[in-house]
Formats: sequence, C-alpha cells, structure tokens
Amino acid sequence: MRAALYLSAGDVIVDEVPDAFLAEPTDAVVRVLRSCICGSDLGSYRGVITRAARSRLGHEFLGIVEAVGADVTSFRVGDLVVAPFQWSDNTCPACLDGLQTSCANGGTFGAPGTDGGQGEAVRVPQADGTLVAVPGGLDASGEELLPALLATSDVAATGLHGAVLAGTGEGSTVAVIGDGAVGLCAVLGAVTVLGAERVILMSRHADRQAIGKGFGATDIVEARGEEGIAAVRELTGGLGVRHVVEAVGTPESWAMAMGMAREGGAIGAVGVPHTMPQLPLFEPFIHHLSINLGIAPVRRYLPDLIARVTAGTLDASPVFDTTLPLAQVAKGYAAMSARESVKVMLT
Ligand SMILES: [Zn+2]
Repeated sequence: MRAALYLSAGDVIVDEVPDAFLAEPTDAVVRVLRSCICGSDLGSYRGVITRAARSRLGHEFLGIVEAVGADVTSFRVGDLVVAPFQWSDNTCPACLDGLQTSCANGGTFGAPGTDGGQGEAVRVPQADGTLVAVPGGLDASGEELLPALLATSDVAATGLHGAVLAGTGEGSTVAVIGDGAVGLCAVLGAVTVLGAERVILMSRHADRQAIGKGFGATDIVEARGEEGIAAVRELTGGLGVRHVVEAVGTPESWAMAMGMAREGGAIGAVGVPHTMPQLPLFEPFIHHLSINLGIAPVRRYLPDLIARVTAGTLDASPVFDTTLPLAQVAKGYAAMSARESVKVMLT
C-alpha cells in the first residue's frame, strides 16, 4: 500500500509501505476514505520539532473497517468509522475520567512505529475503545457528509475542547485567539454546541474571517498584541472577556489571552505549545484567572459530534479549503505551511 512519509523538514513523499495488518487481537484495519493534514503536522515539516526520517504521517482519518481482530466486538467489516487522533481502550481510569489522550494503553497515530492516517489503510490498536461508527454507514451518510465527519477526528473536537476548557456556556461571550482550523472550530463549538452568544475572533485573513463568521463569530478583531487586547477590551465595555480560547500556543498568543481576560476569567488552551511559552504566574494570580489546557481527548466528544453531523446540525467542513489526492500530499503540506490553505483534505 501507499502512505505519506516524512523525509526531512520541508520534504514529504508518498511511497510504498508494508500493508496494514492485524498485529493484536484488539486491532482493526481501516481502509482510509478521507484523511487530512493537521496544523500540528507542520511542527516537523517546518523543522520546529524533530521526526525520524521515513516515519509515517497523519492522525486524522475516517474509513471502512476492512478487518477486525478476534477480540474486537463492536465493529464489523464494512462499518464506516471515525478515528480520534489517539487510540485508547476507553476502559482504564484515565479514559473513564474522559481523558482518553492519557490512556494507559493508548498511543498516537503517526508516532514512531505506528501507521499514520495519511495512507491507504491504518492498523488501529484498541479498536473497540478507539473507533466510533457512523450510524447507517456510508449508505446513510453519503460521500457528501465525509468532510464534516472527518473534521470530528480532531479539529472540531479540539476547538470545542478549547471552548469547554474556557468555561463557555449558554449566553457566554468568548474570544478566540487563532484563526487556524482549531480556532475556527472553537467558534463553531462555542456557538453550536455550548450556546455562546457572542464570539470575538482574532483574525487578519479575509478567507478565515469568512469561515469564522459562517461558524457564528459576531466580531472580528484584526489587531494583534497590545492593540488587539485594547480592541477586545473596547468591545467588552473595558472589562475584557470571561472566556478566552487560546488556539495558537506561542508566547505572543498567551500574552494576548491573559491581557484580554476579564477579572476572574478563564483561558482554555488547545494550541500545541511547540515553542514552550514560559507563563508568568503573577498576572493570573492578581487577576484570578483560571488557566486550563490540554491535548483534546477527542474520543470523549466523538459520539456526540458524529450524531450532530449526521443530524445536520454541525458542519466544520468549511475549514477544508483544499482537497488533494494522497499522491499530492507534499503540495498540501507546502500550502498549509505557507498559510495558503487553512486545512487540506486528502482523498
Ligand atoms: Zn484508557
């Protein structure tokens, strides 16, 4: 079979790899219908983090179950399934706490020694705990729902998690820092799932602003840094925002988050802190800020999000502004790295 491989910074190819197979009785093999490139994949592509040469890429995918191990009871060959970006048994203490990304038997697709989502098929460990079936399968959902379903494998759930961590609820006013796919999905989750009334999106790109407005953003702030903070404070009567989603993960974005939070406000952070911002404690201490962060336990949200997609009430697919065949994955990485594309879907 063919799969995307990382060679070095800026160099991604598609090449022949061994076929995905059942290594454990708890495994399934999923034939990939759609996958995509994640903003976090760009860390190694840009050389910010190191990755082994010829390692597999991708952790967001959906597809058809092609084979199941002897111990797999929840799925049959032919099921349409969505995978969260990490596998988990969904039975250990961490999983039962809703923190499937901390699963005692978990792991990440695309990590060394595992299959990646950007390939023709994937070995899925802990299949019963990991995968979530789409009710009715491909016949019910149709090809046209696949992009919206694919988005639930990471960005739709990660954006929602940011809004949850920020304490968003019915009628909330929320600010979202970051207009990448996750930030945009934080807008969608805050409005559609959690009932936020007002969402201020920090964005200076017209195409991303348009997606954000489509997802329910009520205000757009283009300014950054101190000017951005001042603009948000002006929009909120000088008070600042009670719920701030940080979806970038840089020192600059964190400074903005803490600057625009209202007294007693909460910051929900889902931006991967590749550059490891050093957080001051004095400012949040003085201003009673809650800081909540974490890698999104997508599996926790997946059943609900899939139900919303099939019911037609949630659609994060507008974040996919580029669609390419797997063979052109290198073009997709280049486009996302250059910020010419918000998010690339692979067929
Ligand atoms: Zn677990």
